[in-house]
Amino acid sequence: MHCCDVILYVRLTNEWQAKETSRKVKNAMRAKFKNGEYIAPVVPIGYKISPAEKNRLVVDEETKWIVEKIFALAAHGYGANKICRTLAAEKVPIPAWWASQKNGYKANIFEGQPEGKKYLWNIVTVSKILQNEIYLGNTVHYQIQKLSYKSKKNIKRPKEDWMRIENTHEPLVDRETWDLVQGHINSRKRSRKDDEPQIFAGLLKCGECGWSLSAANTKNKSRYYRCTQYSAHGKEACSLHFITYNLLYAFVLGRLQYWLMAVKENEDAILERLLQSSKKQRKSENARDEKELKKAQKRRQELNNLFAKMYEDRVKGLLDEENYSMLSVKYRTEQQQLDETIKTVSARLEDAKAETDDAKRWVDLIQKYSAIDELTAPLLNELIEKIAVHQWRKDENGKKVWDIEIYYRFVGKID
Ligand SMILES: [Zn+2]
Repeated sequence: MHCCDVILYVRLTNEWQAKETSRKVKNAMRAKFKNGEYIAPVVPIGYKISPAEKNRLVVDEETKWIVEKIFALAAHGYGANKICRTLAAEKVPIPAWWASQKNGYKANIFEGQPEGKKYLWNIVTVSKILQNEIYLGNTVHYQIQKLSYKSKKNIKRPKEDWMRIENTHEPLVDRETWDLVQGHINSRKRSRKDDEPQIFAGLLKCGECGWSLSAANTKNKSRYYRCTQYSAHGKEACSLHFITYNLLYAFVLGRLQYWLMAVKENEDAILERLLQSSKKQRKSENARDEKELKKAQKRRQELNNLFAKMYEDRVKGLLDEENYSMLSVKYRTEQQQLDETIKTVSARLEDAKAETDDAKRWVDLIQKYSAIDELTAPLLNELIEKIAVHQWRKDENGKKVWDIEIYYRFVGKID
């Protein structure tokens, strides 16, 4: 065997071992799921891990009433927003607080915080509870998937890829109540869709607390938006953040028309402007990354040479078996760490390079339009990531002013 074969062999073995381990882990998990075991970092409120049997859910007598109450309210036609307000008014602690008490999970987030934080239910938490089949006694796996190793984003898998195991533990809700509640949820979704055009849906955020803004109508039927946290929990939690549909519409339309005109007038200048703003922050980071990458690649090459030398020495009898295997383990560990570094740093540099493409992509997107005369949901979602609306204030003349920040897709905030 030639010395290079040793290196190749070591490398192949490493890769094969990593793949094999990951496959074995996956298979073992699947078997555990099939067996009805509960393996997730967070235990849903209303349940606890059985003291007798690891990975088995049992009813938590201390908190099960909360789940029953939420389903009872929903069965009576309460929407998630009204349920939140009811729970807060009755001072029912939120799941995160229970978790912090029970297993020290998120231990410090309530320390030194106002008492009210304990009861700050939000719509997402309540909606998730109402749609979680765990309360029917079923466990559903593989609902969520990581977008990629570089991204923290999770996406929902198609329903047919889910793995549903029924009767894995005692239910907290009977089938009749469950169906009734799901019926309410679906009809609510439908009526919201039939409502006036919701072109800003999903894009509006409160500039102060970060929760979304939701639509409502004034008495004379004109549409306005307000902070969801304020509407659920009142002025202790946030402020109203009142803004009318018409004002928002005019502002966003104006900005998009401005950018379209500017791009059409001088595309290169705008591209340059977009790149400059992101480049400044990136420049020093990139230099550091490139240096680190070079260093890792150099050391990686040195290790290859060391392996070859070591093998020769072993063959010549200059290195005994014990030292040979000790050194192999040491170098191999270092090699793996280096490979890891090279992978992450290259990915980061790749991302930075993609920024140039991102700016171009956004400019191309907006240029598709010959003119922007009206706002539509597809147009807004194509060009805009989010719109942060701040609480209005009065200027020196006593006139109300709104600070509105538009974060565009791919390029972020550019105004
Ligand atoms: Zn807010």
